[in-house]
Amino acid sequence: MRILISNDDGYLAPGINALADALSSVADIVVVAPDSNRSGSSNSLSLDRPLAVQQAANGFYFVNGTPTDCVHVALTGIMGERPDLVVSGVNNGQNMGDDTLYSGTVAAATEAYLFGIPAIAFSQVMHGWLHVEDAARHARDIVLRQFDELDSPFLLNVNIPNLPYDQLGSIKATRLGRRHQAEPVIRTQDPRGRELFWIGAPGACRDAGEGTDFHATASGHTSITPLQVDLTHVAQLRRLQESFK
Ligand code: MN
Repeated sequence: MRILISNDDGYLAPGINALADALSSVADIVVVAPDSNRSGSSNSLSLDRPLAVQQAANGFYFVNGTPTDCVHVALTGIMGERPDLVVSGVNNGQNMGDDTLYSGTVAAATEAYLFGIPAIAFSQVMHGWLHVEDAARHARDIVLRQFDELDSPFLLNVNIPNLPYDQLGSIKATRLGRRHQAEPVIRTQDPRGRELFWIGAPGACRDAGEGTDFHATASGHTSITPLQVDLTHVAQLRRLQESFK
């Protein structure tokens, strides 16, 4: 099996190093990741400049671009053969509910999915890398499980509790929950008195009921959500079609 690994925390992040270590014993891996932390970059492509690809001493490729750039360049420029699977992460912190729209971790996987390649995004529920090697080992188990019951390509979003390996393993298939709107910006000033704004924290859970990713991880389960890219609101479409008949 040939696996492309990317992330949004950058090629030096503990999460991608742990994931590469875990998968290198079971697959031929290629790592192509951003040169710095590009969390929150969603599906952005850099169209205003060329991208430089460098290779680190450990063999990882790093790119001065977004996670989507990395997977795009890897699939169309670096890798001779298409990978069988693309994995992203392990991210430093959860990507659940509305987070999936902003996430670079999910975006890297989505880019592969748009190229017709099955892809899995992995995130740890809490920030700080607690038990990251256990999460990577658990991610390897999920990769090895195969997903023959799904149509290919599939796009899976996986959130793993920060637990030791022997306490992981209970997996729930979930839907995305929803968050409340984000917290307000945090105001600050530069040394010359100019007002600056930090983007605030994501909102708290709003829909975190049974069956959601929030609910599963809150009770110590790993959450797996199958994603799709079509954002069409079918019910609204029907109403508009009635109006514009
Ligand atoms: Mn990140």
